[in-house]
Amino acid sequence: MNAASQELNDWIDGFLFVANRRILDLLNTKPVLENGPTELLTDVRALERWLIASGTVSSVRDKAEVRGWRSSTEAEAFLKQLIAFRERLRDAVLRIESGMLPSEVFVSEVNSMLLQYPRPTSLRKRDGKLVREPLVEFHKPADLWAPIIDATADLLVETETSRIRKCESCVVHFFDASKKGSRRWCSMNICGNKLKVAAYQQRKRATGDS
Ligand SMILES: [Zn+2]
Repeated sequence: MNAASQELNDWIDGFLFVANRRILDLLNTKPVLENGPTELLTDVRALERWLIASGTVSSVRDKAEVRGWRSSTEAEAFLKQLIAFRERLRDAVLRIESGMLPSEVFVSEVNSMLLQYPRPTSLRKRDGKLVREPLVEFHKPADLWAPIIDATADLLVETETSRIRKCESCVVHFFDASKKGSRRWCSMNICGNKLKVAAYQQRKRATGDS
């Protein structure tokens, strides 16, 4: 696979998907791009694109429902709350990455949201087996909280916390799902190569090569 097509795989519809966890991908909707920190969830249309790109909203019915929120003030208010929540989550993730627990205030917030927005599940037959699947239907923007809070709670109880990591060179967070657990960068294309080239040039300068 060449670098260009790999780079394409890091991005879906203008959003970064390198985290292995959808909730961390949500955190990464404010990456540092060429012109500095860049908010990618700029409006309700952008949120709709992220929900679809991330697979949070996938059925034809739900997509149509979400499309109907384009000029909804409720959706605008939800987006504001979501962005504020994302920043509190960022703080919690930074704490986890430095070996601490998230703040008690954040844990209580998640607890009250778990009660307010429970995520129902149901059993379905798939390939001759029963699977337990979330039973989510999005009728109003606030219904989006259920999958978001569910994923947040899963992240907070993650036992392999050392695999929750921030890129060594930018603000992007990810869950290291590699076998060795030695992933250092958000993506080889975005930061990895840049750092390798810089290190190579530094070595070259140090040895006096031109
Ligand atoms: Zn990076």
